Amino acid sequence: MDPAREAGRARLADFMQAAGRYAAERNFVRPGHDNVARISPWVQKRLLLESEVVAGVRAQWTFPATEKFIQEVYWRTYWKGWLEQSPAAWVRWTQAVPRLRDTLRGERRKAWEAACAGRAGIAGFDAWALELVGTGYLHNHARMWFASIWVFTLRLPWELGAAFFYEHLLDGDAASNTLSWRWVAGLQTAGKTYVARADNIAHYTEGRFSPETGQLATESFAIAEEPLPKAEAWMEDGLWTASEAGTGVGRTGLWLHPEDLAVELGELSGEKFAAVNAVWPKGIAARAGWGERVTGWTQRALEDGAVRAGAHFHAEVTQGVSDDLAADLVVWARIHNVRRVVAYRPFIGPWLDEGLAIERALAAAGVVVSWRRRAWDTQLFPHARRGYFPFWERVKKSLARPE
Ligand SMILES: Cc1cc2nc3c(=O)[nH]c(=O)nc-3n(C[C@H](O)[C@H](O)[C@H](O)COP(=O)(O)OP(=O)(O)OC[C@H]3O[C@@H](n4cnc5c(N)ncnc54)[C@H](O)[C@@H]3O)c2cc1C
Repeated sequence: MDPAREAGRARLADFMQAAGRYAAERNFVRPGHDNVARISPWVQKRLLLESEVVAGVRAQWTFPATEKFIQEVYWRTYWKGWLEQSPAAWVRWTQAVPRLRDTLRGERRKAWEAACAGRAGIAGFDAWALELVGTGYLHNHARMWFASIWVFTLRLPWELGAAFFYEHLLDGDAASNTLSWRWVAGLQTAGKTYVARADNIAHYTEGRFSPETGQLATESFAIAEEPLPKAEAWMEDGLWTASEAGTGVGRTGLWLHPEDLAVELGELSGEKFAAVNAVWPKGIAARAGWGERVTGWTQRALEDGAVRAGAHFHAEVTQGVSDDLAADLVVWARIHNVRRVVAYRPFIGPWLDEGLAIERALAAAGVVVSWRRRAWDTQLFPHARRGYFPFWERVKKSLARPE
């Protein structure tokens, strides 16, 4: 899997033929997974834009033929919008992981280690653990079964399962991963858990995996948590509109980060940037808990985005690795005489922490940071408050309107 926009486009183009069969075939977990798009690592880094993916399938297929696929693409937007409004779900998870890693003892610790090493002794589950670590990808249905077995059969903390995924998934996403694990564990939708069934696994793996009767838990149990603080009233937050802060103060630079690597398309594409900074902050992988493959892939994706951004804006691109990106951005701004830095605001997660540190350091040096959002996000995120289906109904209505 090449972490480049062109490779993502090629993957999407390959999938176009199969897109019309997606609804009927998507739940089957087959070697090679060519019944699903396998575009998530590119979409997660916005090497491919959700709008392009949806427009691409709509250009080739009727809406009813690809409704299911389009619906899945919007799940990502829904989760992201939901987490932006309930960041406590992310903060709690990040705090729980180190605590649980330190305190898990005895048999439970052994079970945790065996689960991550593909030695739990459960057909399918072990193969998926190895597939995840070996390839950085898992089919959606396998993710659901895996998470369910982790939580309800092995009775391991969901937070550690989410950390295992986040360490290895090339599409690892603060919102989709954390909230999907919460959903399986019954924390996301009140009274609803996901319990993997042996017959369902056997059917959808076409007999490749058949857990024995009695091997899987057949019932869920309730997991308690303090209610999350009420969603923030973010519609009143100025950040949700394109910020013009600092316009006219002098030369403007662009901070490029791996949550939006197609800056030459859309909202920022018409801006003038004197310089682009696409430096990799060295400590982020350890802070986020990414494994080597994820780190390497993301770093190379950033390089790919930087080359395209430099060519599009005819701007000098600064790349490399930094021990202290915030401090280095201050120096970079001075060198390039940049008085304002524009960036897409990272979503809740490790890149936002990085972005906020950068904002503080630049502000102290008198450089304005102007956060921007894509219209896709500003228009859709506000509606990701209740369940997915009201959200989807709204989207569907908007898709039915002529452009
Ligand atoms: C426990 C668990 C953890 C997950 N963690 C992640 C994660 O970290 N990052 C991530 O991108 N997805 C995650 N997903 C969602 C989903 O499994 C993947 O997006 C999907 O498997 C990616 O493969 P694909 O590109 O072939 O998807 P397709 O089925 O072909 O769908 C096309 C695109 O739609 C989006 N999409 C599809 N299903 C979902 C979904 N359920 N939720 C959100 N977006 C979706 C993705 O961008 C995907 O690339 C998780 C699901 C579960 C159950």
